[in-house]
Amino acid sequence: MTAPHVPGLPMSRRRFLGVGASCAAHLALLATAAPAAARALFGRRGPGTVVVEEPWARIEEVADGVWAVISTPLRDRRTLCNGAIVAGRERVLLVEGFGSGDGARWLAGWARRLTGRAGADVLVTHYHADHTGGVEGYAPADEWEGARLRATRTTIELVRGDDARRKRAPDPARDALLGGAEPVDPARPGTLDLGGRVLRIVPRAGHTASDVTVELDDARVVIAGDLLWNRMFPNYVDATPSVLSKAVHALPRERGTVYVPGHGPMADAADLARYRELLDLVEDAARRAHAAGIPAAEAAKTFTVPASLGEWLLFSPRYYEVALGAWEKELGTR
Ligand SMILES: [Zn+2]
Repeated sequence: MTAPHVPGLPMSRRRFLGVGASCAAHLALLATAAPAAARALFGRRGPGTVVVEEPWARIEEVADGVWAVISTPLRDRRTLCNGAIVAGRERVLLVEGFGSGDGARWLAGWARRLTGRAGADVLVTHYHADHTGGVEGYAPADEWEGARLRATRTTIELVRGDDARRKRAPDPARDALLGGAEPVDPARPGTLDLGGRVLRIVPRAGHTASDVTVELDDARVVIAGDLLWNRMFPNYVDATPSVLSKAVHALPRERGTVYVPGHGPMADAADLARYRELLDLVEDAARRAHAAGIPAAEAAKTFTVPASLGEWLLFSPRYYEVALGAWEKELGTR
């Protein structure tokens, strides 16, 4: 992948390429190819109150003691993915490690300000670098006591593998967090009691080999990680598409539930329904191409999303091919 030159970006090309394996790797392209559409998408407010807005993200209070981080990384890429702060009487859970230590430090600061607590548990939903690249930013610092990481063992292994593949420089704070991670049970949902608030931590899969969602029954909030993309066409780079579809169809749909997607603005039931339709549309196109012996690269050239599903911004013009290619791989060569 080559990153186009975008004047005035604070992140150097080298650092941008450093997160190249992530699901948000094509943001520079997005910003230059469709700046108005990207701005409109990222400007789309959820139903909650915005407590802070920065060039890289905003924090929206979506329920009592629950804040969504909506990443808007067009000019400044310190967050790169969405996340959350969930507060109980005794403890706080932060969701995601973001694309840079600066992103994680920024969230830790806001968690302290909003909840009065100077430490937290941090859950990463899956291994992609835009969700885990900055976990070292949660290490103890001035006025911050540090964090305990929670992730599945598969996610931790994949993070380490990705770090090694990209020859990431050793970082003692990162090693300590990854090494001390509390394993999330990959087989069955677990709970986390924050004091007066119990969260469900649900192991799922499909976007990667190991995905996790955080579900709050009391507030009807689902923090979906990259199992849900809202108004941005999803990246299938690591997907097992049939597993992804099953996982998305299994997300809770109680009336009034709001969803923090991995990318894009806050979502509601209608957004989730539209996303499911989009995944079904991709599956249908892939199965038809496969039955007709048409390669994914060829089928992608004529693939379109109907206007009835609304606008879906493409991080990269290759994402249709990546999606159809993931299905092609799963369906097998004929
Ligand atoms: Zn991802």
